[in-house]
Amino acid sequence: MDVFEQIKRRAERLKIACGEGESFARLTTIGTGGDIRLTLRPDSVKKLYKILLYLQRKHVPTVLVGRGSNILAADEPYEGVAVVTTQVNGLCIRGRRLYAECGASAPAAAAALADRGLTGGEFLACLPATIGGAVVGNAGCFGQDVSGVFVRARVLRSGKVRTYRRRDCAFAKRYSVFREGGGVVLSVTLRFERSSSEQVRENIARMRRVKAQTQPLGARSAGCVLYHDRVAVSALLDRCGLKGCRIGGAEVSAKHAGFVINIDKATSLDIYLLVRRMRDALWQKYGIRAKNELQEINFHRNYDIFTECKGLDTEERT
Ligand SMILES: Cc1cc2nc3c(=O)[nH]c(=O)nc-3n(C[C@H](O)[C@H](O)[C@H](O)COP(=O)(O)OP(=O)(O)OC[C@H]3O[C@@H](n4cnc5c(N)ncnc54)[C@H](O)[C@@H]3O)c2cc1C
Repeated sequence: MDVFEQIKRRAERLKIACGEGESFARLTTIGTGGDIRLTLRPDSVKKLYKILLYLQRKHVPTVLVGRGSNILAADEPYEGVAVVTTQVNGLCIRGRRLYAECGASAPAAAAALADRGLTGGEFLACLPATIGGAVVGNAGCFGQDVSGVFVRARVLRSGKVRTYRRRDCAFAKRYSVFREGGGVVLSVTLRFERSSSEQVRENIARMRRVKAQTQPLGARSAGCVLYHDRVAVSALLDRCGLKGCRIGGAEVSAKHAGFVINIDKATSLDIYLLVRRMRDALWQKYGIRAKNELQEINFHRNYDIFTECKGLDTEERT
């Protein structure tokens, strides 16, 4: 029996919802990417753990997907399994600690913290993310980030569940050990400081206002596409004159030079090429090597060679 048939049967036995031929375009906020052979949606940590162990035993390419707000998946079909975590979404607060399962919504966590008058997690309200995804990319804004409130995570790595403390996670700007196959974050404990609900809600409202004024929140995007450990690249991108620059259906936002938006049926290739143009501009104008913030999925090693020629075609179309 074909390995994907075996996976479907195992998923059925574990009562895990299973889809065939869904596309990354539907699972990601930027709205691009190819079809996926199988999509699984476990609804508990136990089921998530069991199916991941099974997939590992079967040596099937597997990718975790939270809210898909930091993913750029190639346009080609993905001959593997996407495990969507959004239904593994338990949350609870005890004292100053928040316990969240990996697929819990970041804004829902922020709202729960506000109800309890706990501060330090206001930034979570601004992320269209799951808590697991936020840990992986050490997400943050307005001077707050995950590493600042992180206590521990339960992580599945090499077939075993281990506890990771902050020192084990190698947190840096938009980085953690989990970004490069360092394991699957199953659940997370974060710690906050006491304040008042009014103050926390006011902080959230202020952050949201600034975001709405400065970022293209109504458009399809994956947030900022580039970052640098020490330099705020968005300000420099602003001076590179790329706002409004377009490749295919992708455009550098006129509102925020760090955002690429999908304005007209963009492909992942359009986005990939536009991000590369932005990175090149930073290098040529400021000698800065920016890092890619998006998590690229299913991009093959020879993609660069392939895109060199296809990119020219795409640009000529614009
Ligand atoms: C409008 C907009 C604004 C944004 N603003 C910000 C911002 O202010 N600050 C910021 O830092 N980011 C921002 N982002 C980017 C994004 O929201 C964050 O990177 C977020 O943390 C991604 O979470 P997610 O659940 O969507 O993860 P996904 O995009 O689904 O996944 C991201 C990566 O993590 C992996 N992954 C997901 N879950 C797990 C898990 N449980 N275990 C292991 N690996 C996992 C995926 O395979 C993928 O490689 C913004 C995005 C958008 C669209």
